[in-house]
Amino acid sequence: MTPRINEFLATAGLPTPCLVVDLDVIERNYRRLHQYLPQARIYYAVKANPARQILDRLQALGSCFDAASLTEVQACLATGAAADRISYGNTIKKQTDIAEAYDLGVRLFAFDSAPELQKIATVAPGASVYCRIALEGTGAHWPLSRKFGCSLEMARDLLLNAAGLGLDPHGLSFHVGSQQCDVSQWDLAIAKSAMVFSDLADRGVELKLLNLGGGYPTRYRDDVPSLDRIAATIETALTKHFGNRLPELLIEPGRAIAADAGVLRSEVVLVARRDYADDKRWVYLDVGKFGGLAETQNEAIQYQLRTARDATSERGPVMVAGPTCDGADILYEDTAYEMPLDLQAGDTVDVLAAGAYTTTYSSVGFNGFAPLKAYYI
Ligand SMILES: *Cc1c(COP(=O)(O)O)cnc(C)c1O
Repeated sequence: MTPRINEFLATAGLPTPCLVVDLDVIERNYRRLHQYLPQARIYYAVKANPARQILDRLQALGSCFDAASLTEVQACLATGAAADRISYGNTIKKQTDIAEAYDLGVRLFAFDSAPELQKIATVAPGASVYCRIALEGTGAHWPLSRKFGCSLEMARDLLLNAAGLGLDPHGLSFHVGSQQCDVSQWDLAIAKSAMVFSDLADRGVELKLLNLGGGYPTRYRDDVPSLDRIAATIETALTKHFGNRLPELLIEPGRAIAADAGVLRSEVVLVARRDYADDKRWVYLDVGKFGGLAETQNEAIQYQLRTARDATSERGPVMVAGPTCDGADILYEDTAYEMPLDLQAGDTVDVLAAGAYTTTYSSVGFNGFAPLKAYYI
């Protein structure tokens, strides 16, 4: 919660649920990442929150962009950013979308399989390509493992083939998994990348780029490793595994830029007990899994929930759920959450650090509930 968001919520009298994002925090986060990882160009992972206001602010700061789709490519271009500041980072793309992005001037594409590389070669001749290597996602609260990335051997072979296909074998990428809380994962990933770099150098292909991906964690309910510590780990790992032959570096933060810039204000719809003997209450909010809080899947992301009664009231254990008639619409059932004993319908509950992966996850109208409204201030 920032003073600006606080004041906006206090004076605007907005219907809930709604998300309020402080663009100054977006800027602060961008500058902090740049300060701690000055050698790396920042490609904001647009999918975390693609709001025009966020893209405009980052564009003005000189940020580059990691786009997951043609629509995101177009959204970045609409800010006035040149196409050479965009990476088409999804490894799963329609050939027609690759062609259109290429027509729009995009020249940097990710891949992690032979058929995807072939698609790029077919419709984006001469483009720079980087191969995503697979990681386990260990330590990540929102892992991206298994679906993406190929083995080191396959990455080597595909990059060896790229030049023959008329492409520029530009580099490697990895993603340690989103909300990564184990800093050693960056060291592991950089070590693996260095093996592929040196393997390829031995065969006459000099890669230029290492894309360190996203994964930088945000503080939700619990402490996370500091950016300071993660940056130091990355720095040490680069020196250890690459020596003085450092490649160009690029990072793709999403959550670390957008999450703590936003507060989602919701309202209590019902507080209910389900048995006289049970002191654990059910708290139903007017926002749930289908209203934008999809990352509570498996209770993976544990948001901090704040009420106006926190300072004065005694707390008791609760289960927290959304407002829809869907049994899956439960936020926290197994994770220990406590809320004020006198909490009641109509009370406000603020979901903190909700600026990333919320607005676009919100359904278009499941059960008749409108998509999450958002304000950018
Ligand atoms: C989602 C994604 C990111 C952003 O990840 P965060 O954990 O939000 O920083 C970066 N790169 C790629 C390729 C992604 O898919």
